[in-house]
Amino acid sequence: MTVHIAAPGEPGYEVSRANTIIQERPAGVVTARSAGDIQEAVRHAAAAGLPVAVQATGHAYTTPADGALLVSTRELTGISIDAEARTARVEAGVHAGSLIAATAEHGLAPINGAALTVGTVGFTLGGGLGPLGRSYGFAVDNVRSLEIVTADGALRTASPVEEPDLFWGVRGSRGNLGVVTALVTDLVPVTRLYGGGLYFDAASTVRVLEVYREWVASVPNSMSTSFAFLRLPPLEVIPEPLRGKFVLHVRIAYTGDDGETLVRPLRAAATPLIDAVGEMPYTSVGTIHNDPSEPAPFVERSALLRELSTETLKVLLDLAGPDVEAPLTLVELRQLGGALARRPERPSAVGHRDAAYSVFVGTAGLPELVEPAHECHTRLVDALSPWRLGGPFLSFLSGMDLDPAVIATAYEPADYARLRALKTTFDPTNLFRVNHNIPPG
Ligand SMILES: Cc1cc2nc3c(=O)[nH]c(=O)nc-3n(C[C@H](O)[C@H](O)[C@H](O)COP(=O)(O)OP(=O)(O)OC[C@H]3O[C@@H](n4cnc5c(N)ncnc54)[C@H](O)[C@@H]3O)c2cc1C
Repeated sequence: MTVHIAAPGEPGYEVSRANTIIQERPAGVVTARSAGDIQEAVRHAAAAGLPVAVQATGHAYTTPADGALLVSTRELTGISIDAEARTARVEAGVHAGSLIAATAEHGLAPINGAALTVGTVGFTLGGGLGPLGRSYGFAVDNVRSLEIVTADGALRTASPVEEPDLFWGVRGSRGNLGVVTALVTDLVPVTRLYGGGLYFDAASTVRVLEVYREWVASVPNSMSTSFAFLRLPPLEVIPEPLRGKFVLHVRIAYTGDDGETLVRPLRAAATPLIDAVGEMPYTSVGTIHNDPSEPAPFVERSALLRELSTETLKVLLDLAGPDVEAPLTLVELRQLGGALARRPERPSAVGHRDAAYSVFVGTAGLPELVEPAHECHTRLVDALSPWRLGGPFLSFLSGMDLDPAVIATAYEPADYARLRALKTTFDPTNLFRVNHNIPPG
């Protein structure tokens, strides 16, 4: 054994844990510096009867790695770009921020999510919904090939021509079929956006959302939008007009040139407290959502909706709007459709493509808030049932979604059956079960 396994108390045992709601006690931690290290770690775990957990940033709220051999990929930070082919090979520890910075030098961009601190591979394996989604699809749709260590310790390349079934299933099943050491993804020729956020006060919320609901139905696919109810803490870092308040945050990411004209109806609906929408380099894409970048405790829940009717909006306002006292830090609706709804050239396990919106409900705060937050999230998601499609949104699976029966509903039934068959082939002993687990058939 050449790879070092850090035991509790030894240097290297502490892993990055961006979501501090989970305090886990792995049996040991391997900080991988090569794909070979991961192969060795997986073989060792299999021989010792330990499950394998994998972590890049620790952002996800998933099964704690208690008693597992935890493979940290955080030092696998290599990026190589082929500007002519418009592709990047991205190692497992790369964050969205460094990938965006590297690709921008070539006038290109990856399909990243809202926050630059999220791991590119972890994001992509769950589907990956980002500000370019309606133009270019889910991140997973853009993957050309990937390298993965499976439960037998083999390092395999999966692509539409090599191991095509594995290629289909890894993209959407997160860490269930092995540890991805690197992937090759398409890049897109985007260097700028007309984008940012409009922040409205509580009193304007209903009026702006009425306008938004009609407006959003007519925007082109090159426009991605979302809105969020934010209950902001009274912290100095938050600009004064928003500090300690309920705020409606409308987010815009538009790759076209006539953004100002397109956004005019939203600006006319009410005067924003802050208008931060304008021309921006793509490298500033993280400022659109402005997600916090510091490690924090966070619990969440998600759903998919077929439509956003006036009744849907009423439910959201009644249960989470400005007049409601509730432990809801963030209630967000993202518009889907466009390229997200198309059958991709390289199909994957990411389904429910006909969903029109994703819903995300989250609460940040101390552990005492967890129980009331869970109750509040459940009430809201249940009240949205008449418009829901499937179970939780695959990209936002959370610690509330660890029951395999719930995880199954994040997939389309035939895809889930195919994933279970793949799990039986590639991981019959369920070595990779410290995740949103798909048990072998
Ligand atoms: C602030 C914030 C903003 C977000 N915004 C978006 C968004 O806009 N769009 C979106 O789609 N999602 C978004 N997410 C969700 C995010 O994509 C998932 O939580 C993702 O799993 C995080 O990956 P990670 O590697 O950073 O986290 P980690 O906690 O390190 O990993 C999460 C899980 O991914 C799997 N995994 C990670 N690396 C590997 C690997 N190399 N091989 C196999 N499995 C692996 C494992 O199952 C692991 O448990 C956001 C999350 C946060 C915290």
